Amino acid sequence: MSSTLLDVNGIEVIYNHVILVLKGVSLQVGEGRIVALLGGNGAGKTTTLRAVSNLLAGERGEVTKGHIELRGERIEKLTPAQMVHRGVVQVMEGRHCFAHLTIEENLLTGAYARRDGKAAVRESLDKVYAYFPRLKTRRTSQAAYTSGGEQQMCAIGRALMANPRMVLLDEPSMGLAPQIVEEVFGIVKDLNQKEGVTFLLAEQNTTMALRYADDGYILENGRVVMEGSADALANNEDVKEFYLGMG
Ligand code: ATP
Repeated sequence: MSSTLLDVNGIEVIYNHVILVLKGVSLQVGEGRIVALLGGNGAGKTTTLRAVSNLLAGERGEVTKGHIELRGERIEKLTPAQMVHRGVVQVMEGRHCFAHLTIEENLLTGAYARRDGKAAVRESLDKVYAYFPRLKTRRTSQAAYTSGGEQQMCAIGRALMANPRMVLLDEPSMGLAPQIVEEVFGIVKDLNQKEGVTFLLAEQNTTMALRYADDGYILENGRVVMEGSADALANNEDVKEFYLGMG
């Protein structure tokens, strides 16, 4: 068993002081694992990721109950930048590349918080290009003129430029053709196995996510309704009936 990297314990999240969205969510992410956070539209996946990376404040949201620990340290009061320094980076839904910058310029923005010098950043860039050969080919293209798959790869690549230990990935499959989703997930698995990067992956595409993840949690209406190994979930009759084929 791997040691626990992230421990989310009974969190409640409220937006705008009144809208209760997470109603006591608990989940654990082991070091070096890929953990899928599954569930339909509005189940609370994005909100859970925002709570972990401390991006709730920008959305007028707050954790009002429970706590979150990263390697045993309470992190609810940290800023997003402090989370990046602790090796936790979020890739937001909808990709969010800077449209007017080139792919390479986009990637370099991901290294803004690093203090380990140009050579180390260059090394990371080469590593990102090794994992995403498409990005190398398109490095001088303006992001606006690249495909959806390339923009998703760029968003993940940019997160990797921060040299993270854990990446929170929000719906990477959204809007992508099935073979591109396979390609993106294949690279995620590779990064996990070769670089040891831990992933918490929010996905509506349950079939695909469970194929690549080690463990999974299913959220419904702000609560975890099922959890287990990815294999056990993929073979569970309820999951098959209600979730497989979604996305
Ligand atoms: P999706 O796949 O559609 O993004 P999700 O599982 O990621 O779904 P969330 O985005 O976390 O779900 O949304 C959960 C609930 O919280 C929804 O009812 C949504 O309308 C609400 N919500 C999300 N963000 C905000 C916000 N900034 N202010 C108010 N309510 C919000």
